[in-house]
Parts: sequence; C-alpha cells; structure tokens
Amino acid sequence: MKTLSCRDVGVDCDFVAQGQTEQEVMEKAAQHARQDHGFADIPPELQAKVKAAIHDKETTAA
Ligand SMILES: [Zn+2]
Repeated sequence: MKTLSCRDVGVDCDFVAQGQTEQEVMEKAAQHARQDHGFADIPPELQAKVKAAIHDKETTAA
C-alpha cells in the first residue's frame, strides 16, 4: 500500500491518497487536486514533488 497526503507536499489539507501502486496514488491525488484545489492539471514540477512524497505504508490491519 502506498500513501500520499496533501500535507507531505506542503498543502494544508487532510486528504490522504492510497493505492496499490504509485500510479494509482498519483491518479487519486490528481483527481483530488482538480476537485478540491482547483488544479486543471498538475504541473510537472509538482508531479515530481508528489512522487517524491509517496511512501509505503505498512498494512497492520488484519
Ligand atoms: Zn488536498
């Protein structure tokens, strides 16, 4: 499981994207950015920042 929170990229927002792959997380984050932050598109520089902020999450829940 991979996660990315808006806070990790410096946005004051509690949204956390989760997915099995980096790609899935990126898609969820992009969709959230469009809907809630008014981004038409994620600029390449922010995409790089977002990718760097994605981390693996231990799945502790049964
Ligand atoms: Zn957000």
